[in-house]
Amino acid sequence: MFLSLSVVLFFWLRHDRIAFSGRSIRIEALLYASGANPTEETLEVAQFLCPRAGCIGPVVSQVLQQEFARHSGRKTQVRFLARAPRSTNLITIEPPGSLLEGVSLLLRLRSEFKKRGASFGRPHIRLFVNISRKNKNDKTEKSVGSARGHIGFVEWNSSAIPADRVWNVTKLLHEIGHTLGASDKYTITGKSVVPIGLVERRLGLKQRFVEIMSGTKPQGLGAELPAESYAELRFGDQSAIEMGWKTAARGN
Ligand SMILES: [Zn+2]
Repeated sequence: MFLSLSVVLFFWLRHDRIAFSGRSIRIEALLYASGANPTEETLEVAQFLCPRAGCIGPVVSQVLQQEFARHSGRKTQVRFLARAPRSTNLITIEPPGSLLEGVSLLLRLRSEFKKRGASFGRPHIRLFVNISRKNKNDKTEKSVGSARGHIGFVEWNSSAIPADRVWNVTKLLHEIGHTLGASDKYTITGKSVVPIGLVERRLGLKQRFVEIMSGTKPQGLGAELPAESYAELRFGDQSAIEMGWKTAARGN
């Protein structure tokens, strides 16, 4: 017990940056599915387990590799591994309010890895993904990511609509961004913070890319749109600095 508590505290207190350069980064995602819409959920799980280009894991790896290379001029390899649900129980994760809550949450998450025969300590980033069809009127968002322990939780709205999948992937990458130390770049009304929530400094013009930490792209006159394709998903300079992918330019 003492040993496992020390291990847990180690993860809880650790919020060091993950060095990306010249190495292989391992991301593991435990999947949970509600069982309420089995056909739909099975398809989503299949998208997670599929190793082909265009499936979720390869897309996440590709965006992270490409964005790291764009900002740092260096290479990294990102491996995304998903583990299929073993029951129809979703997982609830509340951000801990105290050290004690943090420790008990970590013990629980660690045992979730154990139940799937996996090691909590092995991946650099640990994700928990709830796959369930969201009620259209439900505007709450429970996804969360923490640099402390490099842990993320994603609410994955199961859906057959391609645009929903792009939005789900945006959220997945957003929470991964948090686990790497990037901060939110959207306002309380859901608009991109200018200029740090923009990928391109083209003020007054339509943005072509979505800054992953802001989630949407300004289209002028206060309108914002989600990404229409994975190719639009990028991390801006400020997020790259926060994740240690580049240093702030002098004079900024
Ligand atoms: Zn966020």
